[in-house]
Amino acid sequence: ASGYTLLRDPHHNKGLGFTEKERDAHYLRGLLPPVVLSQKLQEKKLMHNLRQYEVPLQRYVAMMDLQERNERLFYKLLIDNVEELLPVVYTPTVGEACQKYGSIFRRPQGLYISLKEKGKILEVLKNWPEKSIQVIVVTDGERILGLGDLGCQGMGIPVGKLSLYTALGGVRPSACLPITIDVGTNNEKLLKDEFYIGLRQKRATGQEYAELLHEFMSAVKQNYGEKVLVQFEDFANHNAFELLSKYRTTHLVFNDDIQGTASVVLSGLVAALKLVGGTLADHTFLFLGAGEAGTGIAELIALEISKRTKAPLEETRKKIWLVDSKGLIVKSRKESLQHFKKPFAHEHEPAKGLLDAVKSIRPTVLIGTSGVGKTFTKDVVEAMASYNEKPLILALSNPTSQSECTAEEAYAWSKGRAIFASGSPFDPVEYNGKVFVPGQANNAYIFPGFGLGLIMSGTIRVHDDLLLAASEALAAQVTEENYEKGLIYPPFSNIRKISAHIAASVAAKSYELGLASRLPRPQDLVKFAESCMSCGVPSKFLKRHGSIRRHHLPIG
Ligand code: NAP
Ligand code: MN
Repeated sequence: ASGYTLLRDPHHNKGLGFTEKERDAHYLRGLLPPVVLSQKLQEKKLMHNLRQYEVPLQRYVAMMDLQERNERLFYKLLIDNVEELLPVVYTPTVGEACQKYGSIFRRPQGLYISLKEKGKILEVLKNWPEKSIQVIVVTDGERILGLGDLGCQGMGIPVGKLSLYTALGGVRPSACLPITIDVGTNNEKLLKDEFYIGLRQKRATGQEYAELLHEFMSAVKQNYGEKVLVQFEDFANHNAFELLSKYRTTHLVFNDDIQGTASVVLSGLVAALKLVGGTLADHTFLFLGAGEAGTGIAELIALEISKRTKAPLEETRKKIWLVDSKGLIVKSRKESLQHFKKPFAHEHEPAKGLLDAVKSIRPTVLIGTSGVGKTFTKDVVEAMASYNEKPLILALSNPTSQSECTAEEAYAWSKGRAIFASGSPFDPVEYNGKVFVPGQANNAYIFPGFGLGLIMSGTIRVHDDLLLAASEALAAQVTEENYEKGLIYPPFSNIRKISAHIAASVAAKSYELGLASRLPRPQDLVKFAESCMSCGVPSKFLKRHGSIRRHHLPIG
């Protein structure tokens, strides 16, 4: 390959970072200005540039440009500035990016599989340039964050999630494949938008939908084998639960909205016990929102309590209550309940709104997962604070615009007593002279390490016990120093180490359950995870360009 081609190959381009020697070896002389910038200086320049932008979306576009230009620098920048850049490549900014994806779209960053490709999905997969794929993140765009149906423009989500698989979990970028399945959209605004990038039709449902997804799942297994991880992301809940239960016995599938959320939130709850006291079984939980996130978390809490107390699930679910758009879910409700809500329909008089439900259930833990913002009102938070010395309040709806309340509101309305965490990030808050640092119940704590654990052990199926193992591993990473600030999650700055520990715990559990196919089991799984994070399998191109390869990896 010529030097010119090398500069245009994002996997190997180093821009001004090419050394004198490399410029000679790869025919780069004259193609670059004379200066050689160290990676450190390149990073400094980029961060300086990024901070100049006032509009978050401009930062997002700048990051995507960097990913397309110089992949290694993109990941290095993300790792070294994770707290600052996570909100740019992920929630909240990725939400806005999806809303405007049509106008910022430049180059395909993943595969688009639409109804037009029916019958040809295997061929489509073969068009992707990389052959050895380890993780696929797939969406159909129907429930993007709390923003609703964004159709084909949901592509920002798989792209963003997979960049975190690499930055936070150390998975090789070339082993990651973002996919958007386009079955149409019911978003009228997009259907009327002349620049919309997707199929201009109403969503296919029923058999037509199921057949396309089945062809997709079969093609994936045929093309990449049994051990490729398929992460479902931001499907509407009727499809999400169905796909998960349909494919969990035949494929390595993971739904981040149901299972990843559950694992990260359970971890926060386990950690919070250090601050509020008692065991999980002593608490009463109330959710606003009974969809993927809400019922996913509820089930995992019930499972964890059941494992600890040996009480059956039917018992441990009884202290978990959910409110949906029709009010508190109770046994006597007339309309038929979706199957995922039924286990939590207990005997109780109905309650209409959240405030009534809080007053009659008197929960110790309040969790918001409805996707509707500003629902934890002053009355609700004050009621929580009147029953609890330290009310635990999690406002999980994303992005920031949909948050149930702000960190400031939670601390002020509870007079500084709430333990608060949220889905999208909030800055520290000063209240009555004390600084409170809100935790972020971000799925990015779990899925990169969880996925790495599955991949490195050659796990063939996801089991709920693996989710519990991940929760416990994350909770164990919270330090005394974190607790003193009211934090129930460790800071993101240590995320690579945290991911390695999560991966090791998940892999250990998988070996224990006999689900791991990579034999013999590595002795020290943390060390093994760390070694996987720093050097993936080199690609053919890297073999040809030996001298570049040395500089290419490790990323971290
Ligand atoms: P989902 O499956 O669509 O569920 C939404 C639930 O909220 C449904 O039960 C719905 O009620 C209920 N709801 C909607 N409007 C309501 C209202 N006005 N009052 C009461 N309940 C209402 O969505 P999801 O996947 O669970 O996601 C929900 C939110 O959680 C999103 O904003 C998402 O970004 C966020 N989330 C956060 C994290 C995190 O922080 N780590 C992880 C995953 C998801 P019906 O059942 O009656 O329709
Ligand atoms: Mn999601």
